Amino acid sequence: MTNPFAEAQQFNALIQASPVATAIYTGPDVTICMVNQLMLNLWDRDAAVIGKPLEKALPELEGQPFIGLLKNVFQTGETYETRESKAELLRDGQLRTFYFDFTYKPIPGPDGKIAYIFHTAVDITQMVEARNQLADTKEWLTLSLSSAGTGTWDLDTLNNTVRWDARCRELFGFAGDEHIPYDAALSCIHPADEPAVRQAVINALNPKADDQYDIRYRTIGQKDGRLRWVHCKGKAYFNGEGLAYRFAGTVYDITEEVHARQRERQLLRLVDDNANHMTIADMSGQLIYMNHAAKHLVGVLETEDITLLSAKDFYDAEELARVQNTILKQITEEDGWKGLITLRNKITKEPIPCEVSYMLIRDPETGEVIGRGANARDLRPEIKAKAELKLLATIVDISEDFCNYCDLDGGTLYMNAAGRQLIGLKEQDIKGSNMFAYHSADSSRVIHEVILPQLLTDGRWSGPLELVHQQTGEIIPIHKQLFIICDEFTGKPVAFAGIARDLRPELTFRKALDERNSELQNTVQELNFLADSVPSVVWTSKPDGNLDYINQRWNERGGTALEDSLGTGWANGLHPDDLPAALAAWSESLQTGNPYQIEFRIKDKKGEYRWWLVRALPLRNEAGEIVKWYGTNTDITEQKELQRQKDDFLGIASHELKTPITSIKAYAQVMQKLFLRSGDNRNADLVGKMNRQINRLNSLVGDLLDVTKISAGRLQFNYETFDFNQLVEEVIEDVQPTTTKHLIKKALSFKKELTGDRDRISQVITNLLTNAIKYSPEANEIIIYTEDYNGEAKLCVQDFGIGISSEKKDKVFEQFYRVSGTQEYTFPGLGLGLYISSEIINRLGGKIWVTSVEGKGSTFCFSLPVKQLSI
Ligand code: ADP
Repeated sequence: MTNPFAEAQQFNALIQASPVATAIYTGPDVTICMVNQLMLNLWDRDAAVIGKPLEKALPELEGQPFIGLLKNVFQTGETYETRESKAELLRDGQLRTFYFDFTYKPIPGPDGKIAYIFHTAVDITQMVEARNQLADTKEWLTLSLSSAGTGTWDLDTLNNTVRWDARCRELFGFAGDEHIPYDAALSCIHPADEPAVRQAVINALNPKADDQYDIRYRTIGQKDGRLRWVHCKGKAYFNGEGLAYRFAGTVYDITEEVHARQRERQLLRLVDDNANHMTIADMSGQLIYMNHAAKHLVGVLETEDITLLSAKDFYDAEELARVQNTILKQITEEDGWKGLITLRNKITKEPIPCEVSYMLIRDPETGEVIGRGANARDLRPEIKAKAELKLLATIVDISEDFCNYCDLDGGTLYMNAAGRQLIGLKEQDIKGSNMFAYHSADSSRVIHEVILPQLLTDGRWSGPLELVHQQTGEIIPIHKQLFIICDEFTGKPVAFAGIARDLRPELTFRKALDERNSELQNTVQELNFLADSVPSVVWTSKPDGNLDYINQRWNERGGTALEDSLGTGWANGLHPDDLPAALAAWSESLQTGNPYQIEFRIKDKKGEYRWWLVRALPLRNEAGEIVKWYGTNTDITEQKELQRQKDDFLGIASHELKTPITSIKAYAQVMQKLFLRSGDNRNADLVGKMNRQINRLNSLVGDLLDVTKISAGRLQFNYETFDFNQLVEEVIEDVQPTTTKHLIKKALSFKKELTGDRDRISQVITNLLTNAIKYSPEANEIIIYTEDYNGEAKLCVQDFGIGISSEKKDKVFEQFYRVSGTQEYTFPGLGLGLYISSEIINRLGGKIWVTSVEGKGSTFCFSLPVKQLSI
C-alpha cells in the first residue's frame, strides 16, 4: 500500500527540483496544493499561497483568462498548452507584463476523474521583450533608413536574386515589386561606371580580399530613365566553405550631394577665375582664401602660402590702421561694408586704389560668424579712363573747332565755346536750341533727307554744310563730321556728335591763292614770251642736269625737235669732237655748282654745224642748294668766222711783215756801224733810235705771229734741259739796258735744272720784266726772285707801279685785253704779252697768276714743273 504522504513528499521534492516553474492545483476552485520556488518567484509570493484557491492567492488574475482556462481543463480533462501567453502579474506591488510558454495538464485521480492540474510555465518575458525590441529596432532602422532615403538590398548569391526594399527599387528606377534578377539590376548601372561596380562586387565576394563594398556610381532608371548618383555599401557573408551565400547592404541617393559638390566646385572655380579680387579671412584677420586675380593684384605668387602673409603686406601703415581700427568694425551683417581702400602691391609697393566690399560669412550650420569676405575692384583703369575722359572733354572744350552734341530730334545737349562763338549763341541758350535752327534752311533739309538716314546706317557722315550766325544771320560755310552715339547697353542710337571747321578762312585763302595763281600764270606767260623773244636759246635744267625747258628760239636754230632736246637729248646734235669736253664741263658744273661756260658746235636744221657759246648759272634756295640751272646758248658762228678771218689775216700780215722788218733791221745795223766808223755820231745815234723802234716792231709782229699760232694750235715747243738760274740771269742782263731808271734786283734761290722750252720761258720772263718796267714809270726798282715751290720752280716779278684793280686782275691774261682807263694810251701795247705768256705756261703744265694793289704795284708769278712735257 502506498503511503500517500510519503508519495506526496516525494512528489513535492520532485516538483521543487524541477528546472521549470511548476504548480499543482486541485479541486474545481483551483486550489494551490503544491508549488515550487520557481513558480513562487514568478508569482512574487511565498509558500503561504499553498492551500489557497488560485484566484485568492493571485487576485491580479481576475479579468485574465487563466482561471477560466484551468477550470475548463478540470471539466474537459484536456491538456491546455500555449506559447508566449501574456500575463499581468504583481511584482513588487506593481502589475507587470510577462510572457509564458505554459501547460495545464490534467492528472486523473484514482477514480479516473480529474484530481489535479499540473501547471508548468517557462518565463519567456525576456525573450519576447528582446524580440519585440529587435522588431522595434528593425522597424526604427527601416524607418530611419527610408527617411534618410537609404534603401536596403539583399542579394541571394546562390539563387542569384535580389531582395530590394522600395527605396532601393526607386533608386534603380524599378516600379512595383516584381522579381528582379541580378543582371537586371546591373543593367541599370551607368555604362561608364559598370566595370568598376562589377570589380567592386567581385572583390567583395572574394573571401580572401576582405574588401568592404563601398562605391559611388550612377544609375539610369530602368523605368523612368532618370540619372541618379548612388552610394552603395555592403558586405558579403560567407559559409564554412568560404562561399558567399548572402551579400547585403544599403544604397542611398547622393545625386543631390554630387550636384552640390559639383556646384561647389563650379562656384569655387568661378570665384577662383573671377576677374574681381576676392579674399576670405577668418575673424582674427588670417587669410584663408585668395583668388588668382587677387593674388595677381597684390603681388602674391601662386606658390606662396597665403596663411603666412600678414595684412601689413597689403597696406601702407596709415591705411592699415584705418582698415583695422575703423573699417573692420563697421562691417555689419546686413550691409557689410563698401568703400574705397588703397591696397598696395606686396612686391612693387605700387598703391592700388580699390572699391572694396566686405561681408561677414556665417557658418550655415551654427550661424556663427566665421570670417570676412572681401571683394575688391581695381579702380586704376577707371581712374585712368576718367582722367582720359576729362582730358578729352577739356580738349573738346578748348578746341577751336565747332563741337556739338544733339539728341536725335536735334535738341542741343552740348556746344563748346568755339561753337558758341562761331554762331553767336549764349551759353545759357544752348539747352533750348535746336540744331535745325542754327543750320541754314538748305543744310537742315540735307540733314533731314540725306544725313540722318546715312548716320543711322553708317554711323558717320562728313561733308560741307552751312551754319547761320544767330545774331547777324550770316551764312557760315563749314565742313562737318557727324557721328552717331549709341547707348552702351542697348546699342540703340541716342544722340549724335558733330565737329565742324569754319571754311571761311580757307575759302578766303583759296580765293587769294587763285588770284595769286592767275597772277603767277600771267607772269609765267610773260616770262615765256620774254624768253621766246630773246635772240638766244634759253633753257633751264633740273639740279640733276636734265633740261626741263627750252624756249621757242630753239625751233628756229636746233637740228633736233625741241621736245627731243629736253632731258639729255641736246647732246645728240653735238659735234663728236666737242661732245666729251661739253659733257665733262657740264657734269663738273653740276657737281661743283660753278658756272658752266663752253663753246661747241651743234647741227642746225640744214645739217650744218654752228658754233654756240653756252653759259649756265645755278639758282640756289635759302639753304644754298641748287634748285635749277638757267642757261643760254648764243650763236657765235659768225664771231668764230670773223675770228678765223682775223687770225688768218694776222697770220698772213705778220708773216709778210716779218721778212721786210728783218731786212730793214739788218740794213739799219749796217748803217749804224758805217756812221760810227766815219765818226758821224749824230747819225749813228739816230740810226740807233731807229734800230730800237725796229726791235719794238719786230717784237710786236712776233707777238701777233705767236697769237695766230696759238689760235691755230700751231705753237711749237722745243724741249731741252737747261740751267733755270742761268736763263734768268741772262734775261735780266738783256732787259736791264732797256731802262735807265729802274734797277732790277734779284734773289734767285731756285738752282735746279729744268726740262722745257728755254726760249719760250725766256720770252715769258722778258714779258713780265718789260711789263714791270712799263707799268711802274715812277719807281726805280724791280725785284725778281725765284724759289722752290713744292718741288716746282717759281718765279715772281714785283714792281711798285700802277697796280691793277682786283676786278680786272684775272682779265689781264686774256687776248687783246688792256686795262682801260685814262692811262691806256700812256702805255703802248697790244694786250697780247700776258695772253701769250699764260698760253706758254699753261701748255708747259704750269700756272701763272698775279697779286696786285692798285697804285702800289703788282707781282706776277708763274710756277713750272721741273720736267715739263708737251701737252
Ligand atoms: P700790253 O701790251 O698792253 O702790255 P700785256 O698783255 O702785256 O699787254 O698786258 C695786258 C695789260 O695788263 C696791260 O695793258 C696792262 O694794263 C696790264 N699790265 C700788265 N703788266 C702790268 C704791270 N706790271 N702793272 C700794271 N698793269 C700791268
